[in-house]
Amino acid sequence: MKQQAPVKKNEQYRVLVEDLTHDGAGVAKIDGFPVFIKGALLREEADIKIVQTKKNFAFGRLLTLHETSENRTDPPCPVFQRCGGCQLQHLTYSGQLAYKQNVVKEALARIGGLTDVPVHETLGMTDPWRYRNKSQIPIGEQKGKIVSGFYAERSKDIVDTDECLIQHSDADRAMNLVKAAASELGIRAYDPQKHKGQLRHVVIRHAKTTDELMIVLITKDKGLPNKKQLAEKLCETFPNLKSIMHNVNPKRTNVIFGEETNIVWGESVIYDEINGVRFAISARSFYQVNPEQTDVLYGKALEYAALTGTETVMDAYCGIGTISLFLAGRARRVYGVEIVPDAVDDAKRNAEINHIENADFFVGEAESIMPWWQAQGIRADVIVVDPPRKGCDESLLTTMAKLAPERIVYVSCNPATLARDLSILAEKGYETKEVQPVDMFPHTTHVECVALLTFS
Ligand code: SAH
Repeated sequence: MKQQAPVKKNEQYRVLVEDLTHDGAGVAKIDGFPVFIKGALLREEADIKIVQTKKNFAFGRLLTLHETSENRTDPPCPVFQRCGGCQLQHLTYSGQLAYKQNVVKEALARIGGLTDVPVHETLGMTDPWRYRNKSQIPIGEQKGKIVSGFYAERSKDIVDTDECLIQHSDADRAMNLVKAAASELGIRAYDPQKHKGQLRHVVIRHAKTTDELMIVLITKDKGLPNKKQLAEKLCETFPNLKSIMHNVNPKRTNVIFGEETNIVWGESVIYDEINGVRFAISARSFYQVNPEQTDVLYGKALEYAALTGTETVMDAYCGIGTISLFLAGRARRVYGVEIVPDAVDDAKRNAEINHIENADFFVGEAESIMPWWQAQGIRADVIVVDPPRKGCDESLLTTMAKLAPERIVYVSCNPATLARDLSILAEKGYETKEVQPVDMFPHTTHVECVALLTFS
């Protein structure tokens, strides 16, 4: 017999919210059947309307709140309800930190079967606003007007915004200036449906310790009308501007950057510092987006690495060498590997700028380069991994175990793949001692963690 969902579209119910998903939606059960309600918080009682049903769950819209959570707060951003950038502005900051700790605990238990691992309280920011040092802002046209802002949730519709409270204020000013100047100078926005028009994205990077600013214009074609006039306007407005870059992306794609990047004005990099180590950042480099919390995250990684100055450290997924160079001062030698050749060039240059001579960087897949290091007779006392969201390749986990380091420090931006990888490493003899969530992305559902593993 075909199972029927116990709820139907347009029906209304009064429900109690029993849980929050990792997307930040409230979960209520109607006859045991889960209904996801955006904007509802834990232990709230609400009237909802069913808006969509699926085989195993449904979506409901919040109508009226009867019992309100003590953790509910007014979202300060006027477009919070529509913009897909933030998901948690209606939850107090302390509520967000507790929620993120819980997301990590649940992922470890449910996916990794790791119920005994201590998960500490999330380390948060004193002032969790205006933290982002990089903004990637899509440009579009609506009713003949140039618009810019972030996409609505699960959509490619731009929510036109003048201000984003989680990005640096220079990013707001630059975004508004480009928007106004584009209209004035006859620059058309790119239309992804028709694959016509010019300006696709504006990327703005700000270096917290030096206040240097980089603005990257990403267009469909090489030519950009009145590029010089636009650059002049930007230079007049921002005395801290160090770099205007032009990237060309001719493809029909969601990927922001194309392959070609040229200097319009100034330098090709800006400089920032983390704990006294200086980094050159280019238009496309991966660089942590929350500078204040990067110190906290890397500080935790350093503490877990417990270096005394005699250790050899391997840093897989090293990017532009940030963690490697952060650790190099306390280690005998650091080996970094990274798949993007430009990032490895940056890492080498960053070592040079800082006169760090005990760090070597290699291009390639961590899962191929690390066995090769081992074949060269290189041993590791500590291995640090900081993979992208999909986590580590299983062959890398096997290689890590073969290298038999005393400690593994796992930095992760995805609790689900962290949980999976920690459980695989447990089978290979590496016990997870503790996990520290760090709030790198306040008001969003993203959670960053550092885990310490030792051989048992
Ligand atoms: N540790 C750095 C970068 C972390 S982001 C920092 O904190 O700044 C993850 C990095 O892994 C990215 O730079 C990405 O290009 C790289 N990467 C992705 N897959 C990889 C692989 N298979 N081998 C090595 N590096 C990889």
